[in-house]
Amino acid sequence: MQTAITGATLIDGTGRDPISNATVIIEDGRIQSVAAQGAVPAGAQVIDGTGLTLMPGMIDTHVHMLSNSEPMLHRLVTPFSLHLLRGIPNAAATLDGGVTTVRDAGGTPAGFKLAIEQKIFPGPRMQVAVTILSQTGGHGDSMMPCGACLAVPSPDVPASVVDGVEPMRQRVREILRAGADWIKVCATGGVLSASDLPTASQFTEAELAAAVDEGRAHGNIEVMAHAQGTNGIKNALRSGVKSIEHGIWLDDEAIALMIKHDVYLVPTLVAPMQVIRRAEAAPGTMPEYGVRKARQVVGDHQQSFRRAVAAGVKVAMGTDSGVGPHGQNAEELAVMVQHGMTPMQAIIATTRNAATLMKLDHEIGTLEAGKRADLILVNGDPLADITVLQPHANIVLVMQGGELVKNQVRERVTA
Ligand SMILES: [Zn+2]
Repeated sequence: MQTAITGATLIDGTGRDPISNATVIIEDGRIQSVAAQGAVPAGAQVIDGTGLTLMPGMIDTHVHMLSNSEPMLHRLVTPFSLHLLRGIPNAAATLDGGVTTVRDAGGTPAGFKLAIEQKIFPGPRMQVAVTILSQTGGHGDSMMPCGACLAVPSPDVPASVVDGVEPMRQRVREILRAGADWIKVCATGGVLSASDLPTASQFTEAELAAAVDEGRAHGNIEVMAHAQGTNGIKNALRSGVKSIEHGIWLDDEAIALMIKHDVYLVPTLVAPMQVIRRAEAAPGTMPEYGVRKARQVVGDHQQSFRRAVAAGVKVAMGTDSGVGPHGQNAEELAVMVQHGMTPMQAIIATTRNAATLMKLDHEIGTLEAGKRADLILVNGDPLADITVLQPHANIVLVMQGGELVKNQVRERVTA
């Protein structure tokens, strides 16, 4: 059966001007046609989108689906199975907020993605990095200063800590064996790690290049680099990574390298904001170093983003959800607009650009004939006010691959 969505204002994700009173026809999970005031075929299911905005499902290219913003001590009393199962409501909340695809930046085994694909529970389409690769004492090393290790062992999540070129090659091979779609490396220190500074460079260029090389040898698997300090960002860029995560201190040379090598910035502007919020909401539950470092980076982070946008660096939306609550992904769009993007640029960052970074742009990210029908209907005009994308009540319909996974306009559907 065909489905027709009529009457809505269409923002198609390409950056083109919106089309008012659009008709989008969907069949067999894909978009068949897009037209202004197009005809509705006989016998189609009609969804009346009058007064609503129709746009591609949002894409978040940096989440940690299994991380929860909770006191660190909780990790120690949570069995792995419970840790894993708590990801299920996280996935549901993400989808309910209109995010139909995510890239998981580490900690989530491939089986979680497969469970969503097999419709065992609802959630966004996923690509997963599985393991966060870190040098000893680096951002992804879970060995705490007391000597206890907070990493939760799982047979399908290879270990994070690796040092040296040949061990890096072997570990990347293990991660690819475990089903990773991306290789996640920490090229600098970070905010929520005990023993490093966000400005510190981590891994040598040779180690990073070995990870890039193994991914490409495996077949088109790219590296995403947690990279905050300037030198580590440049090491990652010279090694051939595909995206810079966070990018807190981008200088002119780093920006020029990103443009030259077609590297995406995934800003995650909300991440340090979330750390500060958590600390203020529940004093004493966050480690002191994390709160202190978050306060130190937040302003420079926003300035760095502003300069990258002004210079024309490609941006893909990412939130680091898991640092903050899941399902609030669209707040990042509002923060991007506060710091230099137009609402249309922010929408492109979470649709076309995010899909292109994930090499899914032939399938999703824009609403055009032939693409998969991943789309949302929004109560409000995000081009006039980007914050309308935040309340879940405003996301009145979510369609994923042509299937209605959320629909609050049911009474307006006529056969
Ligand atoms: Zn992250």
